[in-house]
Parts: sequence; C-alpha cells; structure tokens
Amino acid sequence: MSDYDAIIIGAGLGGLSTGSIIAKNGMKVLVLEQSDIIGGCCSTFENQGYKFDVGASIVELIRPLEILFEKMGKDIKDYVDLIPCDPIYSFITPEGKRFKIPTDIDATNEVVKAMAPEDYENWLKFEEFGMWLLHYGLDAMICADMSTFSSALKVVAKYPKVYKMLPTLAMNHEMAVKKAFSNKDLLSSVSFQSFFAGAPPFLGSGVFGMIALSEHLGIYYPRGGMKGIPDGIMKAGQESGMEVRTNTKVERILLEGRDAKGVVLDDGTEITSDIVVSNVNGKVTYLKMIGPDALPKWAFKGVTSYMNSMPCPMLYVGLDTKPNLNAHHTIVTGSVEFMNEVWTKYYTQGLIPENAMSLICWPTEADPSLAPEGHHVLNWICNAPAPYSPLGDNWDRIKDWYKEQGLKELEKYVLPDARDHVTLIDVSTPLDFERRLLHPEGGIYGLFSDLTSLAMFRMSNKSRAIKDLYLSGASTHFGGGVPTSVASGITTADIIMKDHG
Ligand SMILES: Cc1cc2nc3c(=O)[nH]c(=O)nc-3n(C[C@H](O)[C@H](O)[C@H](O)COP(=O)(O)OP(=O)(O)OC[C@H]3O[C@@H](n4cnc5c(N)ncnc54)[C@H](O)[C@@H]3O)c2cc1C
Repeated sequence: MSDYDAIIIGAGLGGLSTGSIIAKNGMKVLVLEQSDIIGGCCSTFENQGYKFDVGASIVELIRPLEILFEKMGKDIKDYVDLIPCDPIYSFITPEGKRFKIPTDIDATNEVVKAMAPEDYENWLKFEEFGMWLLHYGLDAMICADMSTFSSALKVVAKYPKVYKMLPTLAMNHEMAVKKAFSNKDLLSSVSFQSFFAGAPPFLGSGVFGMIALSEHLGIYYPRGGMKGIPDGIMKAGQESGMEVRTNTKVERILLEGRDAKGVVLDDGTEITSDIVVSNVNGKVTYLKMIGPDALPKWAFKGVTSYMNSMPCPMLYVGLDTKPNLNAHHTIVTGSVEFMNEVWTKYYTQGLIPENAMSLICWPTEADPSLAPEGHHVLNWICNAPAPYSPLGDNWDRIKDWYKEQGLKELEKYVLPDARDHVTLIDVSTPLDFERRLLHPEGGIYGLFSDLTSLAMFRMSNKSRAIKDLYLSGASTHFGGGVPTSVASGITTADIIMKDHG
C-alpha cells in the first residue's frame, strides 16, 4: 500500500490546482515544494518592508480560477481578494508618445480612433472577431484536454464553430496583426503581447494576438501580492486534506519498470504513491527525474526536441516617493520589426540590447500595503528577453551593470531624479531564477511556446511514456501564464479523476 494516492512535485499554480481538485475528490495528496515559499513564478517575497512579486505581476482571464474554485464547491471571493486594475496598461512608443488603454472596450475604441484613424474600421472588425473568439473559442479550449488528436477532435465536435479559429492558428502573431492593421503605433500595441507567451511576434501563434483583447475582460491584482493566488488555492486544497511540505526537494521519480511509484527526495527519503504529478519543467521531469535510460527511444527523442522558454531578468525597486506612472503596467517598446530584431540580432546571439521591451509594474497603486507608508514598489522587466549566457560574460558579473540600465530607464520614463528616491534595488537574473525555482536556463514559461508547440504538439498532461505520471503547469498546453497554468492544473485533475476516480 502506498503512502499517498498522489504526490505532486512543485507547489506552482499547476501543481496546487491539480492537487486541490483531486484532494476534494477524495484522494490523499502530498505536494512537495523545494523552496521555502509556494507559488513558483506567481509568488511574493519581502525585503526591507517592501513586498515584491517574484515574476507574474497580474492575472487576466480569471475564468480558469473561477472554474477551479467551482470544482471545489467554493467561491473564489472567499479565498483570493482580486483588485481590478484600470487602465490595463500605459504604452510608450520609441518616439515618446504615451497612450493609456482603459479596460472599457468602447473607451479603447476612442483611443484607437485618435491613434490610428486609418485603421479604425479594421480595429472594430478585429475586436468583434477577437471578442467572439475569447468567449467561444477559449471557453471551449482553455480547460480542455488537447494533448492528442482524438481529444482535440472531441473539443471540435463539442464546439464546432472553433474551425473559425483555424486561420489564426495557422498564422504567426506578426502576420495576424499585419493582416488587420497598417498604423505602426497600433501594430506595436497589439504585438508586444507575443512576449507574454514567450516568443517574438514572428514566432508566436496568431492566437496570441488576442491577448491585446483578452485584457479588456479585466485584469486583476491580488491583495497582498501575487502570492495571494497560490495561497488561496492551497488553503482551499488543505480544507480537503491536501498536505503541502516546503523546503522539500524531489531528486527523482521512483519507478517500477515504466510505472511511476513515488519520489526520492534529495536526502534519500522515499515516499510512495499510486500516481505522480510533476509541476516542474517537462524536460527536467523526463531527463533528470526519470532519466534517459528509463525512457523509450521515441520519448527521449521527443523530449530532447523541446527548447526551454526564454529567460527574463527582473528588477525589484523600492521608492520613497510616488512614481510618475498612470497604470499598473507601463510598456516601453518599439515597432514589430524591432521586437523581432531583438530576438534575431540580440537574444539568439547572446546579446542584450539597451532599448528592448520593458514592462514596469506598479503594484502599490492597487495595494499600498505592499510598501511602508508613502513608499512604493516597482517590479520591472527591463530590456527583455535577455539571454541566459550573455556573450563572453556571466549574469553574476553583470548584475550591477544591469541595475544601472534599470536606473537609467527609471530616470528616463518614471522619475528624472530617481537616484534620490530609490531606497532599494535588487535584481533576479536568469541565473537567480534558475537557483530560486530550479528552472533550467532561467526560463520563465517552462518550455518555449511558438505556433508549433501548442495543444498536442506540447508535452502531454498524461505521460505517454511512463504509466501513472502526469504533468501540469507551463510545460503543458497552453503554456506559461497564470490563467493557463491554472487551466492546465484543472485539465490534469480531470484526466486523473477519469483514470483513477
Ligand atoms: C518574470 C516573470 C513574469 C511573469 N509575468 C506574468 C504575468 O504578468 N501574468 C501571467 O499570467 N503570467 C506571468 N508569468 C508566468 C506565470 O507566472 C507562470 O507561467 C506560472 O506561474 C507557472 O506556473 P507553473 O504551474 O508552471 O509552476 P512554476 O511557477 O514553474 O512552479 C514550479 C514549482 O516547482 C518547484 N520545484 C522545482 N523543482 C522542484 C523539485 N525538484 N522538487 C520540489 N519542487 C520543485 C519550484 O520551486 C516552483 O515553486 C511570469 C513569469 C515570470 C518568471
């Protein structure tokens, strides 16, 4: 008899979501987390009285979270206090033009009319199709098992109109937006979201073009920091008996032949279970925790063909004054062509450009309690994406240079006298992300997501190579993101309950 029905490796959003649902369905569940805090990329830590978010800075598309709590017979409002953020973002062009994009779509139409009058009619068509796609297409697919052709066909049979999405799926993000618009500011404002899924516009799926619209369904910040989301899920799971152990690192998955039977911790302790769910990077799961020798040849070949997601350094800044910002998120970026060049001429060549994309997050606007009175917090993705191994150098050595780049941007876009007001500046480099979360190469979204690595082309929620092994989180379909990782956790739980319920 096993110690547990299910062991979950990793207390990220995917792991906690799967664990809490199957615990609610009567399984004896143990979640093992190597770090001292839960939540993985969606978490919050304290430094000198300021609360900084590790990575994720916002949640949009809250439907998967609502579904998760519904599946546990609970109301999300009793577990996570989500504060709506409006406007959804402010946008600074290379020429210094600033646009504020409100949540209300009619008000956004007016912004677009002023920004790009020649594209206004096209925008209205884009918006109409995109909103339909978000309501119909995503509802059909977000929590659905799409990991095999037959499971994907079942979704199409249930929601036949999803065929209308096919042209968008067959295009890359750049093609999808350029087919719709010609104005360069408008193009830029609907293209940078490709990086939210981990790829430049010429590699990202055309579906990522819809992220610009999905934010109009509302973006939210959890009171107390992003950790409020995993904390709420864990609390609900614990009410069904789910156990969570932090500071507990899994070294490998116990096997009997090709059947998962539990885990071995880094101190050699063995804990047995009927099933194992891995919430860690899919390549690490198969190549390190299972090991190449235990994999069939086809599986080894398949797993090694995946690339890790891009890394992204983060700056954490404490200020003793209010920043000159007007939105929770401020994006600084260039043309679609420039965003592609950042990838082809810099990122893939091991170089960091001085003016790539920056995302400045100002969480104390939504929740002042994150900083001492009168102070503010900025979490800042500066010049992204940036390579894991900057050419000829190492992130530990260029950390101070990177902080200086951040300070220069701060002076340029947020506070001309920033140096007099910064009380703390810290950085999490790709190496730090690798050490903190054990994400190989500091990748922020598990595996790389381009238009060829979604649905059945991404790692499957139910392992085809190892019996009783399941995966959840960013390495599976739809890839990285708060809503998508929760959705993946739900899908995995549904598959487990079908197999073992
Ligand atoms: C810088 C950054 C910014 C982001 N911004 C946003 C955003 O604004 N909005 C958004 O929607 N998404 C954002 N994301 C993405 C989103 O946060 C992630 O995709 C999502 O949280 C990943 O969830 P996951 O379930 O894959 O688990 P992860 O967050 O990857 O967690 C996996 C957990 O497993 C643990 N673990 C690893 N190895 C072991 C082991 N051997 N034993 C035990 N435990 C182990 C790790 O410590 C970690 O806690 C961002 C991510 C980053 C890094």
